[in-house]
Amino acid sequence: MRKPNLTPDDLAAVVRNIPDFPKPGIQFKDITPVLADPHLFAGCIDLLTANVLPGTIDAVVGIDARGFIFAAAAAFKLKAGFVPVRKKGKLPHQTYEETYDLEYGSSTVAIHIDAVHPGSRVLLVDDLLATGGTAGAAAKLLQKVGAEIVEVIFFIELGFLKGREQLKGFPVRSLVVY
Ligand code: AMP
Repeated sequence: MRKPNLTPDDLAAVVRNIPDFPKPGIQFKDITPVLADPHLFAGCIDLLTANVLPGTIDAVVGIDARGFIFAAAAAFKLKAGFVPVRKKGKLPHQTYEETYDLEYGSSTVAIHIDAVHPGSRVLLVDDLLATGGTAGAAAKLLQKVGAEIVEVIFFIELGFLKGREQLKGFPVRSLVVY
């Protein structure tokens, strides 16, 4: 039976910190122990979608790759569609692209030009907000396809990196903030 009243602290307690992965200086937040536990995974999706009534959202948009896990489960729960924002070169149909800066170099994300109907109400979901470059670029893609971003939701936020500054004007919510 699912543990009642699961809190974000219960989730934070099992997120594994891996120092210096994938590069020296990075404290990687390993969410796989949460995913592997049926009660924690279900509780995490319940908490992520707590503000949203089923049937009020057209699509949940997930960011490549760990964002897909949370967004697809949230979409199923909310009876909404699922839309992927992928790394450049992975989507087969015509796309819009957005390039953003990384510490060294840049990265590009893409969305199908017809991923949602203009005016669709969407949630944007990713596992973790760090500098905000990825989510900021995804939000711009959603504006290009004419979606209305109802909320941007993260499991984890590294608050000291100030990623929210890339998401000004959108409601942003995170379950666990470091
Ligand atoms: P950013 O664009 O800097 O906000 O980075 C966000 C993306 O990078 C997310 O999709 C995360 O999956 C990944 N990421 C960045 N930093 C970490 C970290 N410390 N631990 C785990 N994933 C991370």
